[in-house]
Amino acid sequence: MEYRGGCHCGRARFEVSGEPQHVSVCHCNDCRKSSGAPFVSWAAFAATDFKSSGEISSYNSSGQAFRHFCAKCGTGLFYVNEEYLPGLVDIQTCTLDDPEALVPQAHVQIAERLHWTSFIEELPKFERFPSI
Ligand SMILES: [Zn+2]
Ligand SMILES: [Zn+2]
Repeated sequence: MEYRGGCHCGRARFEVSGEPQHVSVCHCNDCRKSSGAPFVSWAAFAATDFKSSGEISSYNSSGQAFRHFCAKCGTGLFYVNEEYLPGLVDIQTCTLDDPEALVPQAHVQIAERLHWTSFIEELPKFERFPSI
């Protein structure tokens, strides 16, 4: 399979082929803080099958972890960590052109999850916004 994605402003793009080694939703503090979201969905592919283009910057978030993001709009795109994920590129699946393409198979780093993420599916739901 081929997967393509990019940032919100469109200046940073990536593509990858093959199948992911794993797809998971991460609840760690670093993912939460860097994304500003309660958790982040990731898919790990062989780095040799991955290409990116455009204005991409990176940030050494801890140890050998490098988080890559659009230098203009700041969208988080992918993660490289040669210590824990040698030879792999972990892609933020919600930046794919089809964010439904890769379905998470597991939650990871549950030890650091926000307690309310365990019951958000049970909250009242509105197609758009509640009427006032
Ligand atoms: Zn951008
Ligand atoms: Zn994480």
